[in-house]
Amino acid sequence: MESFQCPICFHDFNSSEGSPLVLHCGHTFCLKCISAMERRMGALNCPHCRSKDYREVSLMKKNILVLQHLSESKNEPLAPCAEHQNLEATFFCLDENVPFCSRCATKHKKHDFYDIDDTVITQGTDKQLEEAKKKAEDLLSTARSERDWSVNIFNKVEEKKAKAIEEIDRKFEPLLQAIDKKKKEFVMSLNRPVNALVKRIQENVEYCDDIVKKRQKTISDIDGIMRQISKIAGPARLQAVQSINKLSFEQDKLADKLKTLEQEAENLNFNMDISLDSALRSVEGLTSQEIAIENELKWSPEVLPAAEEVHSNPLQVQLVETLAIEGLISTQSVRTVMESTDRKDFIPDESSPYEDRPQRIGFNTTISAPHMHAMTLSILEPWLVPGARVLDIGCGSGYLTVCMAKMIGRGKVYGVDHIEELINQAIDNIRKSNLYLLQKNDLEMRMVHRDGRIGLLEYAPFDVIHIGAATPEIPQPLLEQLAPGGVLMAPVGPISGFQHITIVKKDENGNLQTHSSQTVNYAPLTDRDRQCPS
Ligand code: SAH
Repeated sequence: MESFQCPICFHDFNSSEGSPLVLHCGHTFCLKCISAMERRMGALNCPHCRSKDYREVSLMKKNILVLQHLSESKNEPLAPCAEHQNLEATFFCLDENVPFCSRCATKHKKHDFYDIDDTVITQGTDKQLEEAKKKAEDLLSTARSERDWSVNIFNKVEEKKAKAIEEIDRKFEPLLQAIDKKKKEFVMSLNRPVNALVKRIQENVEYCDDIVKKRQKTISDIDGIMRQISKIAGPARLQAVQSINKLSFEQDKLADKLKTLEQEAENLNFNMDISLDSALRSVEGLTSQEIAIENELKWSPEVLPAAEEVHSNPLQVQLVETLAIEGLISTQSVRTVMESTDRKDFIPDESSPYEDRPQRIGFNTTISAPHMHAMTLSILEPWLVPGARVLDIGCGSGYLTVCMAKMIGRGKVYGVDHIEELINQAIDNIRKSNLYLLQKNDLEMRMVHRDGRIGLLEYAPFDVIHIGAATPEIPQPLLEQLAPGGVLMAPVGPISGFQHITIVKKDENGNLQTHSSQTVNYAPLTDRDRQCPS
């Protein structure tokens, strides 16, 4: 073999210095110089043509074939391709001994050739390709024949389907026609009544329209009439209202008159009752004259303190005289008793004792007006007889209790009040000019502190019970403590407002008879706390 030298170090390739290496550009150097170049440059550039080779020297193969080629081509560079001057020759054919490019590779398929890295490319590849191609062609022809077979089957199926459809159509045609006919008939049968109904509805609608129109006309007629009526009725109505007002005014006046008449009738009735009682007493053997005589006797010096002891205050006498003139005192006994009981003793100093009106006595209450005392004594007089048992509930100042004690002369008199201070005050009042009443042997006179609504059971029964305060109803214990033949007098009605003087009589069998007379306004019969809130 001819020896060649490395163009860099000029050593023979075959010497021990280094084996030849072919760069991609085709220029050949010894392994030693190329390695040194790579180390120095960091990359592999051909020192001859400056083209870059990206491979690493350690991976580059040292091939004897290259050496052979080099020997034959006398150190000529491999590139470019002999046929395509602008393409790089990256293969080498052993048979024809030429380098060639990738485009020329197909021409060398009858034999083995090498690429630049010494990889053997064998013809086997083509053989396999041909075999694969043949196999593919076989498969293709099988597929084709199978496709033909399928198409054939498909056509046959289509043919059968068409025939079947034809057959079905033929069979169902009359059926469809029959259904169609039936459908038409059914629709017709439905339409007939519907049409009739529609027609009837239309007729009704027209009829209703007619009625609506008539109604509208009637309404407008009525409106016209109403307008005419209101023209006439307006003044007539006004006149009627005025008449009604006048009538109701008259009616109220008549009702008032009727009320007054009723009241008078009741009073008359009441007075008649009292007269009847007197008459009954007469029947029992005691004539009214005798009563008068007895009364006169009662008011004799035996009953009242000795004449020289009675110093009636002229002012008190004057007050009683006035009441008598006004007709508020009917009998001498009442008159004498009131004249001898000076109102001044029963009220605080600063008051006006001789005026006919209530006066304050403390604890939110008053001594009644003198005319009320006169009225009470006059009503109760028939029962205020010697030996009577008298209970005065709500005795307050004690004035009326004293008068009643004087009226009976002998018997029992109890004054009751729920204010203890008033009871003490009343006793003081009595002591001023009427102390003898508390000392008389035949007269038991006590002033008791207690709620009068429960009465005084320990001294019951009583011939006379006087309640001096307003009560909505007479407390049951007091009715029970009333003696047969006795009388109870009370202002019955609402505690705030007006009451009626009510007289309850109990007959010998214990039956009660009640009547009411004049309207009055008394302080309430109540609890201490309500009367004197702290
Ligand atoms: N008749 C007396 C007082 C009449 S005023 C006079 O003329 O002086 C009413 C009186 O009833 C008051 O004194 C009041 O204290 C008394 N009162 C009110 N509720 C009472 C009750 N439940 N029990 C006893 N007295 C009562």
